[in-house]
Amino acid sequence: MPGFDIPLPAGHFIAGAYVPADEAIDVISPSTGLKVGAIACGDAQVVDQAVRAARAALARSNWGGISPRERLRALHAWADLIEAEADTLARMEAICSSRPAQQARTGDVMVTAEQIRFFAEFADKEGGHLVPTSDQAFGYISDHPYGVIGAITPWNFPISMAGWKLGPALAAGNAVVIKPSEMTPWTTLYLAELSVRAGLPAGLINVVLGDGPVTGTAITGHPDIDKVSFTGSTRAGGAIMENIARTGIKPMTLELGGKSPMVVFDDADLDLAADCLDRGIMPNAGQFCVAGSRILVARSVAEPLAEKLKARFARYAPADTLADEAGFSPIISAGQMARIDGIVQAARAQGGDVLCGGAAFDRDGSYYQPTLIAGVDHNNPAVTEEIFGPVATFQTFETEQEAMALAAHQTYGLCAGLFTRDLSRALRLTRQVEAGTVWVNRYGRSRDHILPTGGWKASGLGKDLGREAYLANRRTKSVLIDL
Ligand code: NAD
Repeated sequence: MPGFDIPLPAGHFIAGAYVPADEAIDVISPSTGLKVGAIACGDAQVVDQAVRAARAALARSNWGGISPRERLRALHAWADLIEAEADTLARMEAICSSRPAQQARTGDVMVTAEQIRFFAEFADKEGGHLVPTSDQAFGYISDHPYGVIGAITPWNFPISMAGWKLGPALAAGNAVVIKPSEMTPWTTLYLAELSVRAGLPAGLINVVLGDGPVTGTAITGHPDIDKVSFTGSTRAGGAIMENIARTGIKPMTLELGGKSPMVVFDDADLDLAADCLDRGIMPNAGQFCVAGSRILVARSVAEPLAEKLKARFARYAPADTLADEAGFSPIISAGQMARIDGIVQAARAQGGDVLCGGAAFDRDGSYYQPTLIAGVDHNNPAVTEEIFGPVATFQTFETEQEAMALAAHQTYGLCAGLFTRDLSRALRLTRQVEAGTVWVNRYGRSRDHILPTGGWKASGLGKDLGREAYLANRRTKSVLIDL
């Protein structure tokens, strides 16, 4: 690739080394629409090779049984190297993903290193515990690594998603076979390479490249993978559940899609709300799971809020992800952009009022304008479907009860935002909203990694981040000894 001096391997990373493989899947830059490389599509045999490498690494290094402090030190060394290689990782991310290099550096790479340190710290602090029994017995709960975790990640925020899986799995004493999205393969490979350079046992992280139907299915169905940890769409999550049920039961964590509401009451600070709503949908051009894509606003403040949003949305200028200045992100693929536009045009045809945007930017690559659609009813696909683009619907309500009825989604329950100065209302409604995360007078995660993330309903099963993610990578054993 011109101007890019970092190798972009086509093959997998197994047992601490790159494995040459035939190119099978093209990788396209969403900024230009041009091919930037190609990768292999690992079949069941390659997945098996990776699982055996993981098993061998666990046996050789005793990773799950060494002093937890030793695991912690090794993970900190890996995080050090990730920080040292931040520029390379960020540019590698920008080459094929929707992440501008600058944002990938500060927002993704550096935060991932911080999260690996966060999870490393659990290694020597979380453990089993004694339980009360009669004095005739001695009872305790011990906890243990699973062994080999099979992880599968999406194309949005590839470094962060890999970190969310690898950090807790390794800290908890497991090895991992990970498959990044076929659209954004390289940073996960490089994270694995850096782990070996940092001194982690070769084979602890194995990366198998490929698509969902072939490689993903081989991972979720492999009999010697002890647990599956998946982030991606609800559709793929369902297929994974089915495959796991068909091939043998194993535990799974599923982080899936969302269609989250941001509810603005008439007493809200409208400037603050507009800033948060903007940040709640436009980063990464709306391509993030917790995107607040359904704006619900009290009718009395709808007009001024719409004006404030339009002014903010008009500021975005698209730029190549490798440009010096971070710009508005491209849509990951031409196909996904056509899908976004299809939903917007259908909403328009059904009487929707497109307040701004509603078309692609006139330039190369896949860039869609920040779009706000009013006047659509609650069953319109623009309101019900996860669009995964810079598109928010704008619906109004009269009463709190109506607001909560609109906020409820039949399928998803990932996140919700509430904007009000009324503390009692905020506390009351945080209890009522069916979502795994509720933000009040803000929208989006902080760097409080202790807060777990994960959906209710069809938005998922289990949690990433937080203590929960560490514990999700350990399994417990109840022990009772008669005295
Ligand atoms: P996707 O489901 O198409 O693919 C995700 C990953 O799963 C990819 O690596 C893909 O190759 C693989 N895959 C696809 N089908 C599979 C199958 N049948 N078996 C095994 N693996 C399979 O999702 P995407 O388009 O890459 O990512 C966007 C989706 O991810 C959105 O729905 C978004 O909400 C979701 N997401 C959720 C979270 C969260 O924390 N809840 C975070 C990021 C993204």
